[in-house]
Amino acid sequence: MEYKAYNIKTFKKIPQVEKFLSKKDIADIELAGLVFPFKVNNYVVDHLIDWKHYKDDPIFRLVFPHKKMLKRKHYKLLKESLEDKEKLKKAIYQIRMELNPHPADQKSNIPEINGKRLEGSQHKYKETILFFPKQGQTCHAYCSFCFRWPQFTGISELKFAMKEVDLLIEYIKAHPTITDLIFTGGDPLIMSTKLIKSYVEPILEAKIPHLQNIRFGTKTLTFWPYRFTKDHDAKELLELFKKIVDYGYHLAFMAHFNHPREFKTSQAQEAIARIQETGAIIRTQAPLLRHINDSAEVWASMWKDQVKLGMVPYYMFVARDTGAQHYFGVPLVRAWEIYRDAISQVSGLARTVRGPSMSASPGKIAISGVTEVSGKKVFVLTMLQAKNPSLVDVPFFARFNKKAQWISDLKPAFGKKFIFEE
Ligand SMILES: *Cc1c(COP(=O)(O)O)cnc(C)c1O
Ligand code: SF4
Repeated sequence: MEYKAYNIKTFKKIPQVEKFLSKKDIADIELAGLVFPFKVNNYVVDHLIDWKHYKDDPIFRLVFPHKKMLKRKHYKLLKESLEDKEKLKKAIYQIRMELNPHPADQKSNIPEINGKRLEGSQHKYKETILFFPKQGQTCHAYCSFCFRWPQFTGISELKFAMKEVDLLIEYIKAHPTITDLIFTGGDPLIMSTKLIKSYVEPILEAKIPHLQNIRFGTKTLTFWPYRFTKDHDAKELLELFKKIVDYGYHLAFMAHFNHPREFKTSQAQEAIARIQETGAIIRTQAPLLRHINDSAEVWASMWKDQVKLGMVPYYMFVARDTGAQHYFGVPLVRAWEIYRDAISQVSGLARTVRGPSMSASPGKIAISGVTEVSGKKVFVLTMLQAKNPSLVDVPFFARFNKKAQWISDLKPAFGKKFIFEE
């Protein structure tokens, strides 16, 4: 399968874009694409987007930037700056910085070993270390809501990357609480099998007794399923997965799915089956996004289909406080209603999913419900993950606020501080 990628300069050559989009649509994509990352490939274009109804198409909205993702003042600023190259560059940088490109303290969890910083890692929860292989800091297509977008837009001061797997091994060895190693990105499976091997094999050889689970965070199953079937090094990749399992590790794919349409294709289903044959387990996660999947029907259908295909629904996330949150964001109360409505429609096998959850600096904060306590309407919150493990699963309350979209919009219902602030 020939791989064709398109970016903001070349997307006009996509046959479907030529055929279906108006000049105005194209101009708006070009403008929004100055700020938001944009990349799409021929598989997404040919198999996932219903071009006849592109305006409301969830996958079109997922990958193509558009005008409404820009706030009015930013739209205006860009328009005014178009004629002047230097001014435009400044405007783009300024807008990106105003969009909170590095939310939730990502820079503060960088681990150290023997005085050396593991720049390409994050150790936020005691069991789990994240590793960002340098060459995996890109994706097959870019989700325009993505909080990792600073990594793609070349703001190098914000880039996490790391070459040396040796340091990583040294660090894991020195931290017996670590059971899980997550390869993430971008998308680590964008790398060639040879490169992935160069990261994974030394870890297998190191035989670290407390390391149990190796995970890959990826969108490749639905953005380029040929990675596991037809690509020239697909077979070798599957063999590597098998090897990880044979070494006694639990191999988990944290697969990112936004919409049930993504795994309806025969290509995606074949990829899923090939991965499962290696003994790996696929767990699924996704953010709840307005214009893309903000309905209980979409989530219920997604979880049902995932279970049927042998996958395990894992997390529902709240759209983060970054990028075009004003466009994709959903009020917390609405997120909870969608979660509840969806989970009540599926069998117990799909009720493994947790959320809706906000990945914030203190940890993952889930909205467990809305209720009344002492005559006061409140959100009930719990932490699914916390930097401080003693806070996990302890309910706490925030004053009800029907517009709130993120933890920063909430105030404690009783007392002055949330439990994670004490
Ligand atoms: C969610 C998350 C993880 C993985 O945690 P699990 O709950 O074990 O899947 C790791 N790092 C960060 C920063 C996370 O948000
Ligand atoms: S696949 Fe994941 S990392 Fe890549 S752009 Fe989408 S959300 Fe971001």
